[in-house]
Order: sequence, then C-alpha cells, then structure tokens
Amino acid sequence: MNVTQQVLKSIKSARRSVYINCTRRFCASQCTMTSRHTHSKRIEGLDKNVWVAFTSVAADPSIVNLGQGYPDIPPPSYVKEALAKAASVDKINQYTRGFGHPSLVKALAQVYGKVYGRPIDPFKDILVTVGGYGSLFSTMQALVEEGDEVIIIEPFFDCYVPMVRMAGAKPVLIPLRLKPGKKTITSADWFLDPEELSSKFNSKTKAIIINTPNNPIGKIFSRDELQMIADLCIKHDTLCFSDEVYEWLIYRGNQHIKIATLPGMWDRTITIGSAGKTFSVTGWKLGWSIGPEHLMKHLQTVMQNTLYTCATPLQEAVAQGLNLNYDLMGQPECYFTSLAEELQGKRDRMATIMQEAGMTPVIPEGGYFMLVDVTSLNQDLSHMGDDEAYDYKFVKWMIKEKKLAAIPVTAFVGDESKKDFEKYIRFCFIKQDETIEAAGNILKNWTKG
Ligand code: PMP
Ligand code: GLN
Repeated sequence: MNVTQQVLKSIKSARRSVYINCTRRFCASQCTMTSRHTHSKRIEGLDKNVWVAFTSVAADPSIVNLGQGYPDIPPPSYVKEALAKAASVDKINQYTRGFGHPSLVKALAQVYGKVYGRPIDPFKDILVTVGGYGSLFSTMQALVEEGDEVIIIEPFFDCYVPMVRMAGAKPVLIPLRLKPGKKTITSADWFLDPEELSSKFNSKTKAIIINTPNNPIGKIFSRDELQMIADLCIKHDTLCFSDEVYEWLIYRGNQHIKIATLPGMWDRTITIGSAGKTFSVTGWKLGWSIGPEHLMKHLQTVMQNTLYTCATPLQEAVAQGLNLNYDLMGQPECYFTSLAEELQGKRDRMATIMQEAGMTPVIPEGGYFMLVDVTSLNQDLSHMGDDEAYDYKFVKWMIKEKKLAAIPVTAFVGDESKKDFEKYIRFCFIKQDETIEAAGNILKNWTKG
C-alpha cells in the first residue's frame, strides 16, 4: 500500500468510527466530523424531552389525546379575523420594532397596568418574544450566569432545568409536599415547607423560579406562600422569575396574585406571560416578559442579538384581542374570565370521569391540567422492564393498549423526587366535550373489564 492509499484508508476508518459515535439523526453516512464536534457542553445530558417523546401520538387520529397541553376548542373568532386582516395590510407583513410591536406593547401595558395597579412602561418594562419559552430563555440568558444557583420548585415545567443548565448555572430543586391523610385531593394540598425552602437559599442563589398556576399540578400559590418566597428573595437579595402563563385560568374560590405586586418585589421580578394561553392560540408562539427597566434591558440585549423580532401580523392580532378584552375586564364576556368559566365545567366533568373509573384526581385550582393517581388500577407493567419510572411505562402502555394519551408526571421532577410522583399521570382538559367523553368511554370500558 502506498502512502496515498494509507492516508485514504485511515480517513475512511476515522469516518467509520465517527459515524458510529454520532447519533443517526444528525450524521449522514458521509459524515467527516470528529466526535469532539458533536455537541457543546451546555447541552450535555439534555437530549431527552417529554414533548418530543410523546407528542407524535397526536398525529394518530385513533388516539384520544389528552397529553400535550393545547386546546382543541376554537380560539375566539375576533383574534383569527384580526390576524387575517393584519396580514392583508402590506406594511404589517414586514419587520416591526424588535422588543415588541408598538401596538402590542401598548396593549400589554394597558392590560397589565390595571392588573399590577402600577404604570407599566410599554417600551422599557416589556419584551415580546417567541412564546413563554422565549421569555424564559431570554430571562435565563440575560440574568443567570456560571456558578449561580437557581431554585426550582417540583413539579416544574420541564424546560426550567435545561434552561438553567444552558445558562451555566446549577438548578437546586425543592419538592412540593403533600399534606398527609387527605381523601379528596386538590392542588392546594401540595405545599412548600418554609424551612426546607429557606435551607435552599445561599450566597450563590441568583433566582427562584415559580409557576402559578402551576403546570402540571394546577396549584395557585397563596398570598402567604408568595410572601414567604418574597421575604426570602429580599433577605438573600435574589431575583424571582414568575411563570404566569396560566394567569387567567383561575377556578372559582381562588385568586391569582402576582408576586411582583408584593412590597419590594417589582424591582427583582420578571413575570412571564403567553398569548398562546391567553387566547387559546398555542401555535402563535408569542410571549412576553414584564419587569423593571434595570432587568428588562438585559433581556432586550439577548433579544436583539438572537431572534431580533417576532411575527408582526401575529403581534398586531394579539394587540387587538387585548384591547377588546381590556374594555370588557370585570364583565362576564371578557375572554380572560369566560374561558376559565368554560373550563371549570370541563375540569369538573374530567374529575367525575376519573373518580368513576376508580382513580383519584387532584382537583386543580387553576391551569388546564389534572393530575390523576393511577395506583388503584393496579396495572402490572413488570413486562416493560425497570429502566423507566412507572408513569412513563403506564402512559406508553395506555397509548398503545387503550388509545388514550396523557403525560407522565416524573417528566416534571428531578431524579430524587421520581418515587413520590411516579404514580401520577397528567391529563389536559382544554378539549371539546366530545374529546373528554371519548376519554371517559375508554376509561369506563377499561375498568369494567
Ligand atoms: N410555561 C409553562 C408553565 C407552560 O406550561 C408553557 C407551555 N406552553 C410555557 C411556559 C411555554 O409557553 P408558550 O407555548 O407560550 O411558549
Ligand atoms: N405547555 C404545554 C404542556 O405542558 C406544551 C409544552 C410543549 O409542547 N413543549 O403540555
């Protein structure tokens, strides 16, 4: 073999070994990269994702899908019409102001000015970005850095941990604990232990992330709980990132309080909202962060150097939806409250269905998810091995055998809490009555059998 042949051979064998090291998804057979180029440290260990794993079932029409959280009820017709109209105006199909389309930030400032009971500067206190996800991401990138710790309450919306990690910081988890000895369980039965929470704060703590109403439990943090969190934030001089994307979905007898409205908290809080949740248009992917100028200017720096701006027609349509409902606030026709009224009936029907099937639902105070304890079904899944938590196996089995989709709750907790949550699965109930009844029929036949 001459030198050229030897070189060609070694390149060929290097290619082959790299191909073996690369994941099939990213590397074609012609891959010439060495393995050190496959990923950055920032994303190490973040390759598994519950939505990627479980949402493909949505495409199968034979499956009743109460998994991924999105409405199958129609959004209000005026936002759809506003979008069609916006897209018919040439100028509105072009770039708009990077930190938020002027009519949208003005509408947000108006609505939230009323909610917060303080003036919100549309141009300095608000950043519009790609969904609640984009708001969370720009918050972490702007305000969290290497060496920081960020406290996260379990169960948590699953992207918090990866986002903290991608910012170079360490997630510090604290679980909600269940009050013992309860028969009818509601989301209010899960509580934060004040001493346990206080023990998580230290000089490295940069922020705490809260989510109220919480996904997946549906817990709405009470004023006392928020005050306890606020006191710790002030004592330890930390920030608070408050994910309130379900802020309008509050069931009777409950009240949503913004932690940013507690004394001393405006200056240290970023609050996250979502047009997808506000107007039942999750596919529009518009969200916003609201906070004081001294923090928001850093989020704006992230925005201007990453996404720069969001879709103008969508922003215009959301602005019009907000303006219309601003005028209706406090009246039953206001979508902010009428949607929750409509969902209350669906929540209660879902709870009845679960109880009739012999399962224990956790009645949510807010949001559009319901946790259900499946222990009483005694489903033996030992044939599925023990590599995964029980809820993952249960949901996979339920999708395959019963054609009903839900989401496993251990996707929302860290390893140490998996044992406490693996008997729960999460159902989404922002669905047409027929969809909910179809799920009911599956459960009825199943438990009868
Ligand atoms: N936060 C929570 C708690 C959520 O459930 C979601 C799910 N959509 C988001 C943020 C992200 O919202 P968006 O769809 O607007 O990106
Ligand atoms: N927030 C929605 C849920 O919790 C959807 C999240 C997603 O699809 N990434 O179901």
